[in-house]
Amino acid sequence: MAFTLPALPYAFNALEPHIDARTMEIHHGKHHNAYVTNLNNAVAGKPEENLSIEEICKNISKYPVAVRNNGGGHYNHSLFWTIMAPSAGGAPTGALADAINSAFGTVDEFKTKFNAAAAGRFGSGWAWLIKDASGKLAITSTPNQDNPLMDVAEVKGTPILGLDVWEHAYYLNYQNRRPDYCAAFWNVVNWSEVAKRFDAK
Ligand code: MN
Repeated sequence: MAFTLPALPYAFNALEPHIDARTMEIHHGKHHNAYVTNLNNAVAGKPEENLSIEEICKNISKYPVAVRNNGGGHYNHSLFWTIMAPSAGGAPTGALADAINSAFGTVDEFKTKFNAAAAGRFGSGWAWLIKDASGKLAITSTPNQDNPLMDVAEVKGTPILGLDVWEHAYYLNYQNRRPDYCAAFWNVVNWSEVAKRFDAK
């Protein structure tokens, strides 16, 4: 198989009480797994089965909608698991903190703007913190399983933090209270992983 489901880097219950174990188990084992299976089916026997998921996203307009939906789903969730961690939260430090302060004023102002993007995404989608081609940070959001790497994205850049706002990401614990889920997310953000992504080339 060209693409595989990455192991969750912590236990299903590791992000409790902010994200419950049952949600994590279904989200990783059923939803993400289905994106991987459907992506593999969509690329089987085609040249793109030998490309990285990043390369596929960057040229997504060349591929069928099944690749866009499931390839995006695979990329987005693979990032999402790594930018969370148990006993995380806290605040960004170093060059990342400087860049956030420079772009948004303060870390708290950044969180407010990010949460507004997450809460304001109508229907299913994602909120993102991205680094653009000039190295500057920006907040954006995408519908469905699109992401800012995609050539079809309104605002393009390299995602360094992402929040899944599909109902499957929060409904068991938060029901319709998406803003509460978005607020709780900051307790599990793995800032060292976000910084690693920010520092990468
Ligand atoms: Mn999801």
